[in-house]
Amino acid sequence: MNLDLDRYFLELALDEAENALMENTYPIGAVIVDEDNNIISKGRNQVHPHQDATAHAEIIAIRNGGQAILQGKASRQKFTIYTSLEPCPMCTGAILFANMKKVVWLLNDDIGFGGYRKIKEANLFDARFDEVEMVEEPNEDLKRRQQELMRKWSTNPNHIVQLRKDLK
Ligand SMILES: [Zn+2]
Repeated sequence: MNLDLDRYFLELALDEAENALMENTYPIGAVIVDEDNNIISKGRNQVHPHQDATAHAEIIAIRNGGQAILQGKASRQKFTIYTSLEPCPMCTGAILFANMKKVVWLLNDDIGFGGYRKIKEANLFDARFDEVEMVEEPNEDLKRRQQELMRKWSTNPNHIVQLRKDLK
């Protein structure tokens, strides 16, 4: 049951990732749910549309969930964030600040800026990381869909390799 719910929310995160790619930016999406599995907020990468280097999917979802997340701190309600790619160092920090009890992602990021496992394994902020359950790559088929989005992104005109080519 729980795994099926995880899958359902990961599919929604993947939908957001697909929307991001259509907007010619990093195909990454995120969804935040409360302990009763109500969706609190969604986010997708908006780095290129907003020309904002910090507009990552997880950051946008946390911002969109602002009031609920802060009220949760008072009422001791915690949240789960689903994201299509392993969080970067910035988003890992934001997740530790944002009252999450669980983080689930579809695809590990070993070649890019994946940071969650590196920072956790560095045994920094142990007390905070110990409060957050981590689930990596639970669904092979959804993982492959995210990999396919990353592959499509690599040839997008806004991808850094393409942008540099345009400068030559
Ligand atoms: Zn990030």
